[in-house]
Amino acid sequence: RLVVKDRDELDDITWEGDKVAIKVDGEKKEFPATEVLFDNCLACEFPTPQEYDILLGEPSSLVANKPAAQGKIEKLKQLTPEQRWEFWENEFSRCIRCYACRSVCPACFCQRCFVEETEPQWVLPMPRWQDNLIFQIVRNIHVAGRCTDCGECERACPVGIPLRSLAKEMYDTVDELFHYKAGTDKEAAPLLTAYEFEEAEDLFR
Ligand code: SF4
Ligand code: SF4
Ligand code: SF4
Repeated sequence: RLVVKDRDELDDITWEGDKVAIKVDGEKKEFPATEVLFDNCLACEFPTPQEYDILLGEPSSLVANKPAAQGKIEKLKQLTPEQRWEFWENEFSRCIRCYACRSVCPACFCQRCFVEETEPQWVLPMPRWQDNLIFQIVRNIHVAGRCTDCGECERACPVGIPLRSLAKEMYDTVDELFHYKAGTDKEAAPLLTAYEFEEAEDLFR
């Protein structure tokens, strides 16, 4: 019944414990948060902005439900490398290379993206799954240390590829290796501009 309603037609949306309550035409319906929220919203570490000029409403009391938000990623980790490869081959076979994921990503703002380069040509323009996969792998490396796990790439994808699984794994890897979370400390130097002499390999010394 709610599916045919526009958001403006809903009377109210409220949090009630671990449920989302929606009132429409005077009738109230409750949904488990794990069913109606995006995974990254379930896992949100900063539901109240750390800094703001004006806070609308009250500070949020939401607590991140990390296990619920890691479900898809944990399932992928349980697959063998061969099964995981098959999974991503199937997923990226559906990619139409619309670049909505890149357009919506706050960390993708290059005037000329590597996919448009022709010398060298990193990926072919036609959406073969192999090139689609390379596009996302390289994009994930490019946004490492800048990705905030906003989940917008997955939300914007018109064919429903679970892009956040890739982005979040990179986000966690960056956190684990460098104890760095993009956007959480304004005093911290951006990850890829800060390194110690000892970290350099001989090639760069
Ligand atoms: S939004 Fe989805 S379909 Fe479009 S390029 Fe990105 S992964 Fe491919
Ligand atoms: S989750 Fe990361 S990669 Fe995806 S849109 Fe947000 S910042 Fe970009
Ligand atoms: S994928 Fe890489 S090159 Fe392309 S816009 Fe994003 S950060 Fe820039």
